[in-house]
Amino acid sequence: MKKIILLATLALAGQWAFGQKMKPQDTEDWSRVPEVVTPGKRTNAPSDAVMLYGGRKDAAKWEHDNGDALKWKAKRALTVKKGTGYIRTKQGFGDVQLHIEWRAPRKVVGEGQGRGNSGVFFMGGLYEVQILDSYNNKTYSNGQASSVYKQFVPLANACKKPGKWQAYDIIFQAPRFNEDKTLKSPAYITVIHNGVLVQNHVELKGPTLYIGKPEYKYHADKLPIKLQDHGNPVSFRNIWVRELNLD
Ligand code: MG
Repeated sequence: MKKIILLATLALAGQWAFGQKMKPQDTEDWSRVPEVVTPGKRTNAPSDAVMLYGGRKDAAKWEHDNGDALKWKAKRALTVKKGTGYIRTKQGFGDVQLHIEWRAPRKVVGEGQGRGNSGVFFMGGLYEVQILDSYNNKTYSNGQASSVYKQFVPLANACKKPGKWQAYDIIFQAPRFNEDKTLKSPAYITVIHNGVLVQNHVELKGPTLYIGKPEYKYHADKLPIKLQDHGNPVSFRNIWVRELNLD
């Protein structure tokens, strides 16, 4: 009996805390219904994804910075051809969920930043998630695989052995700018590397610079996704994005 009285008192106190009597329905949100999306099998693209590279047929979706047609090796996988330069999607993107699979060369050549280096860039090359063969390969921590380059060290090193296919699932929230071109809200990135959370909604300090302190500068709200030619024959496959609006 004592227990019942105590519980009743606690329940009443709970209602007092809210200042009014609340019903379970008061906190139910029926105002929006999340869209039904059929998940892909394993890492296949879900129904609402834009396929960026699923094979040779998608080579036309990419170009070099100067507008030249793709010079990288485009077969079942897309492979960096040293010296040809970065490539970018012809389509621009803002907020996205990106899936990308990549493979560092099986034969280990070089060390540190010189080993299996590439990168995924958002907003036309401004914000990089590093690609590097970080399997038993020392370098600065904010420059290893799945770092937000020179800004955020990954929470773990989830790198597979060189020559193995690896996956990044990245949620990129683009920065917003005011009408006077000042920063309204920064960019955020979440990264899952081979199923392991490595970046959790980190707030970018600005573009991911090789030298110097990052600072935001106004840019368009949709820009290409870019892949880096850092001189190493890194391969890519199964690249797809889901366009989001994270406002
Ligand atoms: Mg890089």
